[in-house]
Amino acid sequence: MDNFCARSKDFDGSRSKIPNKMTRILCGNPVAQFHSHRQEILESIKRVLDNGPYILGPEVVAFEQKFAAYNDAKYCVGVGSGTDALVLAMKALDIGAEDEVITVSHTAVATVSAIVAIGATPVLVDIEEKYYTLDPNLIKPVITKKTKAIIPVHLYGQPCDMDAVMQIASKYGLYVIEDCAQAHGATYKSRKVGAMGDVGCFSFYPTKNLGAVGDGGAVITNNYSVSERIKRLRQYGWDKNRVSQESSTVSRLDELQATILRVKLEYLDDDNDKRRKAASLYDNKLANKGWSLPAVRPDSVHVYHLYVARVNDRQQVVSDLAKVGIDAGIHYSCPAHMHAGMKGKVYAPAPLTVTEKIVKEIMSLPIYPEVDAIHVTEVLKDV
Ligand SMILES: *Cc1c(COP(=O)(O)O)cnc(C)c1O
Repeated sequence: MDNFCARSKDFDGSRSKIPNKMTRILCGNPVAQFHSHRQEILESIKRVLDNGPYILGPEVVAFEQKFAAYNDAKYCVGVGSGTDALVLAMKALDIGAEDEVITVSHTAVATVSAIVAIGATPVLVDIEEKYYTLDPNLIKPVITKKTKAIIPVHLYGQPCDMDAVMQIASKYGLYVIEDCAQAHGATYKSRKVGAMGDVGCFSFYPTKNLGAVGDGGAVITNNYSVSERIKRLRQYGWDKNRVSQESSTVSRLDELQATILRVKLEYLDDDNDKRRKAASLYDNKLANKGWSLPAVRPDSVHVYHLYVARVNDRQQVVSDLAKVGIDAGIHYSCPAHMHAGMKGKVYAPAPLTVTEKIVKEIMSLPIYPEVDAIHVTEVLKDV
């Protein structure tokens, strides 16, 4: 549930203090997204229900083609979730037990648990304090003979420093798997995220910039054999004759989700523009609050999956916001290497100083295409 801004213990019960007439602004709001495109979505659902098939039919194929084209990639394979996109992509690249994969601890834990799921070891490095994404200077020192890949995470909708990542990867012969779960439509030097590396992995979890009404994910790539392998891996390892050529699980994007995603993809750029407008309003109106507001990497287009500010007295600020009806979130309150379930499974060769520092200060303000950002800034004046 990482992308619903979970309200932490700090401000549990705050809802009861809100006067009834006050509008409560959620941190993310996928239901508002549905209502923005309600009629078209309902018609597309009806078409699928009336005609079938319900699994791996024309809607998935059409969405895959459209999403590949949108990202300037040759191939797209729809799968069951963003986590599965990462898992199947790594399997398709023959990454597994004994291998090491370099990524960040400051991410949705899914990035790291996907590496653990394939039996490889996540090697975690620190982030750039300014942009909250993988610090490319820290990659080289942690490369070993076992290193197979780097997973840059375009966190909060901000592209990583991809030139630096790609340069190191090509020098050391490593795969690059872009975790684009929070960055649908973001660009780095005019290139969409996801097709710069070997594969790009997307999640369509409802709150993401392109969200389904259930689980969904996709892998994009320019490599035909990798795309075909992922198609096989998403369905029992089946070949065209439904004979399993390698043992695998099942992880498919279904027709209902695909048809909804087809509708919403048409509006993705427009919706990202709306997120950027809200962000720029926050940038302007909150500039004098003494908070540290998000910085945008030069030559990049940020898509503000989240608007993350840093404050010194977070507990106080978050509970003050709750009192005026603003649901702030924390993404993430616990870095991956500190999760109980990751104990003994991840490796951080060097101290994660920035990660551990900012994790105590970060706070996500409500952001989604339909957010009433003017109202939020009005209310925030008094906090
Ligand atoms: C959401 C997310 C994932 C996982 O996606 P699911 O669809 O929930 O499996 C992976 N990485 C990041 C950075 C995410 O935000």
